[in-house]
Amino acid sequence: MIPAKTIDDILSVARVEEVIEDFVALKRRGVNMMGLCPFHDEKTPSFTVSPAKGIYKCFGCGKSGTSVGFIMEHENLSYPEALKYLANKYNITVEEREVSPEDRAVLQLTDALHIVNNFAAEHFTKNLLETDEGKAVGLSYFKERGFRQHTLDQWQLGFAMSSGKAFTNLALEKQYNLEHLQKLGLSTQYESDFFKSRVIFPIHNLSGKIVAFAGRMLSKDKNQPKYLNSPESEIYNKRKILYGFYFAKTAIRKADECIVVEGYTDVLTLFQGGVENVVASSGTSFTVDQIRLIKRFTDNIKIIYDGDPAGIKAALRGLDLVLAENMDVRLVLLPKDEDPDSFFKKSGQDAFSKYLDENAKDFIDFKTTLLLSEAGNDPIKRSHVLRDIVSSIALIPDAIKRAMYVKQTSSKMEIEEAILIAEVEKDLQKLKKEQQQQYHREKLREDRNNFVTEVIVNPEDGQVEMIPTTTLPKINDEHQERDLVRILITSCDLMLEKNGDVTVHEYLIPFVEENIDFLANKAYKKIFEFAISKYKASQKIAFKDFIHHEDADIRDTAVDLSISKYAFANWEEKGIFLQTQQMPEENFKKDCYESILRFRLRVLKKEINELEKMILENSDEDKTIDIKVLQQLLNERNEIAKELTQIVL
Ligand SMILES: [Zn+2]
Repeated sequence: MIPAKTIDDILSVARVEEVIEDFVALKRRGVNMMGLCPFHDEKTPSFTVSPAKGIYKCFGCGKSGTSVGFIMEHENLSYPEALKYLANKYNITVEEREVSPEDRAVLQLTDALHIVNNFAAEHFTKNLLETDEGKAVGLSYFKERGFRQHTLDQWQLGFAMSSGKAFTNLALEKQYNLEHLQKLGLSTQYESDFFKSRVIFPIHNLSGKIVAFAGRMLSKDKNQPKYLNSPESEIYNKRKILYGFYFAKTAIRKADECIVVEGYTDVLTLFQGGVENVVASSGTSFTVDQIRLIKRFTDNIKIIYDGDPAGIKAALRGLDLVLAENMDVRLVLLPKDEDPDSFFKKSGQDAFSKYLDENAKDFIDFKTTLLLSEAGNDPIKRSHVLRDIVSSIALIPDAIKRAMYVKQTSSKMEIEEAILIAEVEKDLQKLKKEQQQQYHREKLREDRNNFVTEVIVNPEDGQVEMIPTTTLPKINDEHQERDLVRILITSCDLMLEKNGDVTVHEYLIPFVEENIDFLANKAYKKIFEFAISKYKASQKIAFKDFIHHEDADIRDTAVDLSISKYAFANWEEKGIFLQTQQMPEENFKKDCYESILRFRLRVLKKEINELEKMILENSDEDKTIDIKVLQQLLNERNEIAKELTQIVL
């Protein structure tokens, strides 16, 4: 358990934008910050962070939360684990008991797996630095490569001994779970060590936790693979991890470029030499998930190849994806027989960077040159190349870029531009159809979050119209409830002068309390019950009491309701959002009265209906009183309707 005082300390320093910026590049947009959502694939940012409110919300996929919630979701951690993560980031000491074997058993699986990997990493490091075998074999290999002690420490490099059981035995002795060891691929089904006689490169996730290991063989055993990687597990998805990304991310953002190499030692050499924006796709060819990971930090990728042209050709196939993501990809081929490691050591940082700058070719150019040199003058092969290049060009979202590439390719392949344009157009039509379907799906999702205005897209010409829904006193029960709760959450501690010195909280509760059963939504009801209990105890409440509430329903709903569509800068970029309306926060007084009126109107409507029904059904009784009451209710209803219309106008 983490003491409440410590939790308060953590929550008060863990600024949501700081926490999220470790994972997502954010750009300031008015009072909010925007970035590409890490939880769904998107090309234009709809991920919004509100530093003032301490929350984030994605208008694409709807994910939202606080700094703690973000870490829980992103790092797949439990609540206490996320708090510990933040405590660590901000150097807050968390008083904690040592993890006992009993505790270990109840820890969440992912937590447990991280702990096992940490133990393994420490063990491998000890082997490397403290055992004779480790020093003689592993350490001498790393030293030979020129890695300094600081690099070894920072990247937690290690060594796995040749005796095949030492690690597994020690782990079991220390009460680590055999199943976990096997899940992580550290121990085999025969309870022996998976990594034997190899130097070890731990693979970190975006938050610096070790999720897997790569082991490089040093002997020349032909029956053994040169590299061995941990299998995929609950904490390791190799398609989503780039080796070195955790260490490189700050430099990538700063340089606005990510350099991609093939090998672990390439990364280490460059990083140690001062080129820190470097990563490697570990154990796979480049995947679309890895590309999207990079895109969250920069649009510019430079890929360094040292392989033979045939190998590169295969690698290029996957790279069409990068074009579709509208990223700027440049490729560099190193001189024959050099890899980044050797070439960097030979040439030094300045000459290396200069070589990259001078020899980087854009993707289409690189691909055309490579494929054409292979096809020679064979007309059939050349037509295949053309097909290949055309489909790549069609993937580029930017029309000007496309036109540029068409021109370039036409001269390079000696084909008339008009023919190329027609070919690209065919591919584009196909893609456009797919994209349109996607767009409409996305629009539907957005509309669900949009309660201020309605967006209508004309499918014919793609024209977008925004219709303000608030100009009509249209009562939608769900919207109305949501508004009421939203006002309570976001403005509860603000003062309403018109009614004397009362807060929004104090003003709303008496109205809602007697009609709380009208709230159909369970979470909304919980929120009001919480507010009512505070009101009865004469306690004030504030926004943070909702977003950090112990009840997840209250917490999630509060976050979700507190960032409005106004923050959706995406629309602004598209030139659609032109209204200069006040922000809802500044409108809270009007919103507050209006919401109460609407709520009252709803209650009245129901009462009127019931009374009318009663009057019609009971034909023989005296109905004068009922009718009088009905008349009163109707009067009140009309008054409110009138007032609502005035407020609105
Ligand atoms: Zn999202």
